Amino acid sequence: MSTSDPQQQQMIREAMKSIAERRPGRTKLVYDKTKRTIVAVAEGAQAPRALNITADDADMFAALTLSTAWLRDHWDDLTRDGYAPLSLSSWDDGDALTHAALGVIPAASSATGCITLDPAFQLPQGTAIAIVLQPGDGEKPDAATFTCPDGTAYRTTAWRHDGDTRLPLDICFADVQPELATRRSGILETTVLKDKTVVVIGLGTGGGHAAIELAKCGVGNFILIDRDRLSVGNVVRHPGGISQVGRFKVNVIRDLILEKNPDAKVSAYPVAVDYDNHGDIRELIAQANVVVCGTDSRPSKLLVNQLCVEAGIVAVYGGAFRRAYGGQVLRVRPKESACHQCFVAAMPDQASDVEISTAADAEGIAYSDQPVAIEPGLSLDVLPIANMVAKLALLELLADRDSSLNILKRDFAAPWYLWLNRPEPGTEYASWPPLSESMDEMTIHRWYGIELPRDEECSACGNFLGALAANYGLSVDALPDLPVSPGKDR
Ligand SMILES: [Zn+2]
Repeated sequence: MSTSDPQQQQMIREAMKSIAERRPGRTKLVYDKTKRTIVAVAEGAQAPRALNITADDADMFAALTLSTAWLRDHWDDLTRDGYAPLSLSSWDDGDALTHAALGVIPAASSATGCITLDPAFQLPQGTAIAIVLQPGDGEKPDAATFTCPDGTAYRTTAWRHDGDTRLPLDICFADVQPELATRRSGILETTVLKDKTVVVIGLGTGGGHAAIELAKCGVGNFILIDRDRLSVGNVVRHPGGISQVGRFKVNVIRDLILEKNPDAKVSAYPVAVDYDNHGDIRELIAQANVVVCGTDSRPSKLLVNQLCVEAGIVAVYGGAFRRAYGGQVLRVRPKESACHQCFVAAMPDQASDVEISTAADAEGIAYSDQPVAIEPGLSLDVLPIANMVAKLALLELLADRDSSLNILKRDFAAPWYLWLNRPEPGTEYASWPPLSESMDEMTIHRWYGIELPRDEECSACGNFLGALAANYGLSVDALPDLPVSPGKDR
């Protein structure tokens, strides 16, 4: 309540108490529908005292949010049948009622509503919420105004049935796509992203977060690939929460993408990324404008690299170092910049300093009998890397379009980016000076773009066979067939 006058607060409390106890009280609260104002009147007072608190100020009615797009789509049904049923998510003991058509994640409880053009309409049995549309008489449109396809403005009123009592509801229409587009347009200045497709491989903390950020920017199509299910331990970092445990991560992230961009088209593939199914992965990658790779095993990264180079599709690889003391991002423009194979050949130590966040990772890395501890980093330390992955992917998607973000292209010319969260003991970064003292030395918490030459003889992106043949003074045709590479069909 907005009033801070103790006498007014006391009057409100008295009136609400008498309503709750269903007995007449000395003070009454009256809702003035036309003024949308609550008026409290005390008996016996010399002059009835009006509080004039608006319903918005008092925030005492449940909020009902309806989808404008749904109502436009169902307008013909509504005018033909006189009514249309709708399903509502009921949150917080009914304090907020949200049209189920707005999103993919429902509340634990639901309510049935009925929308009609006839104020005298007899509601079907079991309908808890009534919503009535009546042509407006020229007053200023507000949140409860709906403009139908022929341009007529309708005023909407709604109430919840509680026995014989009608409890009014505050109505708000949500026209989702235009409202989201307006918020993005200042910086992106283009709607090209809705037609772009991003393939995200690896939907852990980094890949999942990057995918959701791209959805918020308005990317319209996603293909998600990861065979893992969300575990309880994942929840401290993953965008998915504890109520999603056991679901495939691709499905968890699909729903979170749709919560941010309801018009996105999302395909989820809970499959492994390995040589056995490289043909399927290749077909999915072929649909991408950009590939984001957040897997944490080297073989899967190299397979994705091989397939992306072969298809000529830009890929952005993100990875955290162990315990997420830092991380790196590699952007590969096939045949133009160093690929992941070039990177591994040139920087084997950096390429192998990966985070150990699962038992499978620990096993994969334990070459000796010495056990390797599972040491995941904090979400806080992974997200800077995921944000960088998303930003580089976004710049690729915007390509030559006009966008304020394109001024960043000058800054993101390097193929490889390094980020350190802390001067981790035992690493070459341990002696870096404190962030607060350094003027021009390298410190933590700054991105460093690093040039990385492409290997002309790289087995993935270069002329590997030609170089091999030249080394032995042979023609390429004279070489025996190589074992099947991951990028070629058997
Ligand atoms: Zn290469």
